[in-house]
Amino acid sequence: MKPALRLLACLTLATAGIAMAPISSLTQERAAHVTPDLVVGITIDQMRPDYFFRYWNHLGEGGLKRLVNEGFFFRNGHFRHGQTSTGPGHAAQLTGTTPAIHGLLGNSWYVRELDRSINVIEAVGSGFRGVGSRPDYDGEKGPVNMLTTTVGDELYLHTGHRSRTIGLSRKDRGAILPAGHTGQAYWFEGSTGNFITSTFYRDELPDWLQAFNARNLAQEYLTQVWEPLHPIDGYVESREDENPYEGRTGGSTAFPFDLPALMADGASPSLLNTTPFSDQLLLELAKGAIEGEGLGRGPVPDILSLALSATDAIGHRFGPASKQMQDHILRLDGYLADFFSYLDREFGMERVLVFLTADHGGAYIPHYLRDQGIPTGHPDNETGISGEIAGAIRGFLQDRYGRDLLLAVSNQNLFLDLPAMDALGLDPDGVRVEVKRFALTLDAVGGAMTAQTLTRTEFTLGPRAAMQHSWHQKRSGDVVIWLEPQTQGGTGTGGTGHGTPWAYDRHVPILFMGAGIPAGESMELVHVSDIAPTVANFLNSPLPSGNIGRPLNDFLRPR
Ligand SMILES: [Zn+2]
Repeated sequence: MKPALRLLACLTLATAGIAMAPISSLTQERAAHVTPDLVVGITIDQMRPDYFFRYWNHLGEGGLKRLVNEGFFFRNGHFRHGQTSTGPGHAAQLTGTTPAIHGLLGNSWYVRELDRSINVIEAVGSGFRGVGSRPDYDGEKGPVNMLTTTVGDELYLHTGHRSRTIGLSRKDRGAILPAGHTGQAYWFEGSTGNFITSTFYRDELPDWLQAFNARNLAQEYLTQVWEPLHPIDGYVESREDENPYEGRTGGSTAFPFDLPALMADGASPSLLNTTPFSDQLLLELAKGAIEGEGLGRGPVPDILSLALSATDAIGHRFGPASKQMQDHILRLDGYLADFFSYLDREFGMERVLVFLTADHGGAYIPHYLRDQGIPTGHPDNETGISGEIAGAIRGFLQDRYGRDLLLAVSNQNLFLDLPAMDALGLDPDGVRVEVKRFALTLDAVGGAMTAQTLTRTEFTLGPRAAMQHSWHQKRSGDVVIWLEPQTQGGTGTGGTGHGTPWAYDRHVPILFMGAGIPAGESMELVHVSDIAPTVANFLNSPLPSGNIGRPLNDFLRPR
């Protein structure tokens, strides 16, 4: 019901002498075919679900706590896929499927035909250019490598092209993939501090975005010092701020971070990325998009996808358990509270369907874990699969076949040289099995599977199932390898990462709020790919083409 109509209904009830019904009972009576006006999908990059509870006593009432108290929290939400990186992570929510089907294997992946890696949003040879960017910006970007449709694409077709989907993010891929093939996407250009797009989408920035860029908010936010929001002695959930594990901003692991001084030293506006303020900026942009595009005001629902990327940059540099992560989540909590109040004022939360999730989790810093006595695969394997492990496999192939048959290592996949094997009269399946067996003799390798096993066997649980969901029959490699738990390659200079099939990378929050959804929580095993069919059902819209998700709507019915 539109706000004006709701008011009329309330007046009618009042004049009839009937006590005005609370909103909750009105929404319960809403016909099943009534859809929300606006879907707001919030993906927090590298958000671990334990952050809600780790920092619970410090949170305000209107942000993350509101989602938990007023919304429905799926506390056992996971990614199906095992290559837990940002590209496939942002594709899961609105495609309802996995890399095995949508084809987005990682943030980049090796392509045999090109003999190089392509970026997940790289439109190879398209000639697309940046719009609103500096002239030398590489604008060959769009969702062209995504093989399936999104909820927004289907809604666009379903409504006679009236529904709009807008994707916003600091990262290009975070904006582009959720926007689907028929939406619009805008992302941050770190060298200028502006939000831009590519000619895949349009030839000029919309007026509202030009006006937003003209406010120079990025530069304004960079005039402040990042200090703890509250006295840092109270951040007892986090380790010492000075420590040997974390990466550094301006040479330090510890507060405060003097952003104006770093800018004066020659930093670019991308300095904002590793501060909470880049999320504040994105939520301001979200308001600009809602107002500028009139999202949620039309005859059919619209979708706004917000990918908030500061948690990821702060997580990579300082890790979970850092004072910086604690302060960032508390600040993000405030920004979200402000944004939810905005949605209350503009629409009323019962007219909006909000979901919040992540694109992957994140690992504790391996060296920190090692010092707590937890096995990490370190320090013997600092460089991960593409370093020491690949080197050992190359040596094995040289000894065994007289030739290095390893073309590339990409996203836990080994690509072997098929023409060379053909020329040597080698059976590829036999070579794959020997490579797998050798890989399993190496320290830090947690498991391995060959292409033939992935083709002939359907796995249902654990890392093998996850790696199978990340394996595309045409795009992926010959042997899949994953590391042991708590093992990350390439973090010797401080900080941490993600990308493994283990729980800390696959377990993420999944929450829904608004649209008549009751407060509640479930420990049922659900997946991020279940969000798409759930949202599609709220919109009475067809499922995305590659959907394998399970609708969660039965959990979300008003009681
Ligand atoms: Zn990410």
